[in-house]
Amino acid sequence: LTRLALEQGLEREMALAESQASHRREQKLRERLQEESQQLERANAEINEAHDRLLVISRRDALTGVSNRRHLVDELERSVHGYRRYGIDFSLVLLDVDHFKQVNDTFGHQVGDEVLKGLATLVSTTLRDIDIFGRWGGEEFLCLLPNTSYEEALPCAERLCADLANARLIETMPNLAVTASFGVVGCCGDDDADSVMSRVDAALYEAKAAGRNRVSGLACF
Ligand code: GH3
Ligand code: MG
Ligand code: MG
Repeated sequence: LTRLALEQGLEREMALAESQASHRREQKLRERLQEESQQLERANAEINEAHDRLLVISRRDALTGVSNRRHLVDELERSVHGYRRYGIDFSLVLLDVDHFKQVNDTFGHQVGDEVLKGLATLVSTTLRDIDIFGRWGGEEFLCLLPNTSYEEALPCAERLCADLANARLIETMPNLAVTASFGVVGCCGDDDADSVMSRVDAALYEAKAAGRNRVSGLACF
């Protein structure tokens, strides 16, 4: 009986020791899982940050830092959708630097680049925060003015045109005069992205033909 009692006591102790060891193993496993899950969370946050940074880069023009054409097209499509579905107005201002080739030919391509950067900064700081502004290509820039009628967009373009003509775009070249021609249209009728762009292009062409450094608008038909 004594031996049996001893054996049972021993078995109980062994079972207890085994259960404690298993508990410790479980605890360690839980800690490791927690650590790995934290590592995963950190990696996930890094991926999200990298994704956000890439998104910003993919929308920016490398030279001037303003929106690039791809982003402008996306925003234009969105605005056209808002106009067609909910009747939300928007207007476009397309500007093209006058005789820009002469700037490059006279002062060099680097000065030309500085002019584009200076112009982009000037226009970005003049427009409202909700306006979208970017480089359409070369020395052409597009302003997309949400919730803005054609009548409201015209004086806005006039102000930009005058500000640019009076601006000193490059600090070290106070006598460098840069002007641009501006086309203005409001989205109207059955407009889609292509039609509204081709009308603002036609308006810009008119401003060029009329002598440059001016605004030309095409009212809704
Ligand atoms: P207009 O008044 O009719 O618009 O004349 P323009 O000389 O501005 O127009 P044109 O199309 O003849 O010349 C545009 C010039 O813009 C030619 C091109 O080399 C220059 N250009 C385009 N992109 C860049 C750029 O990123 N940097 C520089 N420096 N020049 C550029
Ligand atoms: Mg051009
Ligand atoms: Mg030009």
